[in-house]
Amino acid sequence: MTTPDFRSELRGAALRVTRPRLAVMAAVHAHPHVDTETVIGLVRTDLGAVSHQAVYDVLRALTEAGLVRRIQPSGATARYELRVGDNHHHVVCRSCGAVADADCAVGPAPCLTASDDHGFVIDEAEVVYWGTCPTCTAARSRQ
Ligand SMILES: [Zn+2]
Ligand SMILES: [Zn+2]
Repeated sequence: MTTPDFRSELRGAALRVTRPRLAVMAAVHAHPHVDTETVIGLVRTDLGAVSHQAVYDVLRALTEAGLVRRIQPSGATARYELRVGDNHHHVVCRSCGAVADADCAVGPAPCLTASDDHGFVIDEAEVVYWGTCPTCTAARSRQ
């Protein structure tokens, strides 16, 4: 896995390069679909004392700049990932909350062609596939 150049990504998004921003991007890169608490823990391991608020602010700035994608399956905590702009979807386990990427069904994002777009220009479709992950399925069948 090659590490992207977070500095130039920040500059490309007109964001100042700061150590907390670099640490948050590295944490989200290393742990796709990471939740906020885990990001805080990873950033603290990296930089020492960093406030919750500082990490929240960085996540918000990165999300608004489009460098980080925030997903929040209903009833679950928000997760963050660096895989942005490719309209991929997620499978979520109802039981343990595990999240994995699922590429769009076939070809050029057919889900973006709504059966009725109501005149909207559509650029993203958020699809969450709910189910049970292999670990939970195996645990269940052992009971
Ligand atoms: Zn599970
Ligand atoms: Zn994803």
